[in-house]
Amino acid sequence: MSSSPLLLAGVEAGGTKFVCAVGTGPNDLRAEARIPTTTPEQTLDEVAAFLRQAQATHGPIAALGIACFGPVELDPESARYGHILATPKAGWSDTDVAGVLGRALGVPVAFDTDVNGAALGEGRWGAGVGFDPFVYLTVGTGIGGGAVVDGRPLHGMGHPEMGHLPVPRDRARDPFPGCCPYHRDCLEGLASGTAIAARWGRAAQDLVDRDEVWDLEAEYLGAALASIVWTLSPRRLIVGGGVAEVPGLLDRVRTQLRLRLGGYLRHPTLAGDLGSFVVPPALGARAGVLGALAMADDALGAGKGRLPR
Ligand code: ZN
Repeated sequence: MSSSPLLLAGVEAGGTKFVCAVGTGPNDLRAEARIPTTTPEQTLDEVAAFLRQAQATHGPIAALGIACFGPVELDPESARYGHILATPKAGWSDTDVAGVLGRALGVPVAFDTDVNGAALGEGRWGAGVGFDPFVYLTVGTGIGGGAVVDGRPLHGMGHPEMGHLPVPRDRARDPFPGCCPYHRDCLEGLASGTAIAARWGRAAQDLVDRDEVWDLEAEYLGAALASIVWTLSPRRLIVGGGVAEVPGLLDRVRTQLRLRLGGYLRHPTLAGDLGSFVVPPALGARAGVLGALAMADDALGAGKGRLPR
């Protein structure tokens, strides 16, 4: 739970919309807004106007958290910290999201990926509570994963790229070459919503009653989750995103993961059907913006966060 009585702002910056909130947590949101993603100038202008209006109405905001679509620069030593880097999203490459919004409010800014933001939200208020370390994997148009370790998202050179894990595949059974522009048949290239639509010629939501689609999908996701289990020893795997919401998919994934683990790890967490080990997110579509609030709170508590330059 948040120990800070101070008002915080969170922004989940997505490719189609910016979800904004001001408050102290999920049970105390004073103002919320959804702003369509258009040009960087117009979008950030509208977000800043919302935050200033919320501040005028509800009082001073102490810190701002931003969970942003990527790729993004997370290295605090870099001059481009808080920027979106080269992105296919037209007009948004090299946008200083953290700087523009931080200067608009004049408060410390915490900045991370959208996936890490959602992971932090689940860790603070959702399915990750009490399960540190845990991994949040989102399976939608693309695939991304965040690991929360000791309460913080795992960073490194940049951030983990679990969507590009290699996965075993049977080319006779699945001749689809994969759609990742860098690796072809990595996890994202084989199992993202984009890959499903390209392989089967229809969108995932129009394939829900096709067993062969979801058996194959579960094999790829199960294999990737096994790699994540071996590498990070998470206490819980939260699997969200539009594709993961297909009814019955998580059950198939649990079955595949059990097969991959092969009974090697003997831990109470892995007993039974993995029903409490592989779980859906608890916060749904609000995980990202709530995670951004948690980031703002952490930045304040740790004296971290960056004052805008
Ligand atoms: Zn890839």
